[in-house]
Amino acid sequence: MVRKLENPKCEFVDTHAHLHMRQFDQDREDVIANFERDHIRFVVEVGVDIESSLRVLKLSEKNERIFSAVGVHPHDVKILKDEDLEKLEELGRNEKVVAIGEIGLDFYRNLSPRDLQEEYFVKQIEIAKKLGKPIIVHVRDAYEEAVRILRNHAHPNVIGVVHSFSGDYKDAKRIVEMGFKLGIGGPVTFKNNEKLREIVRKIDLKYILSETDCPYLTPHPFRGKRNEPRFVRYVVEKIALLKGKPVLKVAEILMENAIELFGLDGAGMKR
Ligand SMILES: [Zn+2]
Repeated sequence: MVRKLENPKCEFVDTHAHLHMRQFDQDREDVIANFERDHIRFVVEVGVDIESSLRVLKLSEKNERIFSAVGVHPHDVKILKDEDLEKLEELGRNEKVVAIGEIGLDFYRNLSPRDLQEEYFVKQIEIAKKLGKPIIVHVRDAYEEAVRILRNHAHPNVIGVVHSFSGDYKDAKRIVEMGFKLGIGGPVTFKNNEKLREIVRKIDLKYILSETDCPYLTPHPFRGKRNEPRFVRYVVEKIALLKGKPVLKVAEILMENAIELFGLDGAGMKR
């Protein structure tokens, strides 16, 4: 059972969701229809390749509370062609697209060769620069390389978020110094993740975004279940606890951070 909210005025934002994935095929419309009931003001729905980018865009065009990010995940760049980048740029111009992502480096699974991952990371940063939109960055076991690329190719013209941040404090500092945010999700609630909690304690709240990465990374106490945008409040509650601040106040700041980064207005509408 999901606990009742202590403060009914609380509203949340999930800055990283994958509702287009097959895990939501049975009840996608219901999950979205419940955003209002679940106090989800808006969700950023994130593509991982060209085909899913088309689908996230369609979802966002149909739903007021969904915005989209289009991009090719480092896992998938091995099948990418330069024509695909033209397609991506065209999709990126849509006004419901608030970011280019998720893009980045994954040297943990290495599903695409590292040199190709770096090449297409840079090329997609260039698209964001051209479109004047922020980036949503995926990094796993490649913080040195990712920070170097962001420093050389994004900073200071392109900002964004390193989603589901999993680096150390030194990486976190370097990232926020470039004006980037850290996306914090379910892992901050995991029993063995004191390292991430310590980083959240130390980094100013203005650099933090709330996210789920659903259907993955479900927060405690729902681990093992499919993740959903409504579980983002367990992340926000944990961040509030770590900061020693009221949940309502922290939720407001996290909302403001997302609105500012993605250029939305207070109602979750495009500015
Ligand atoms: Zn993701």
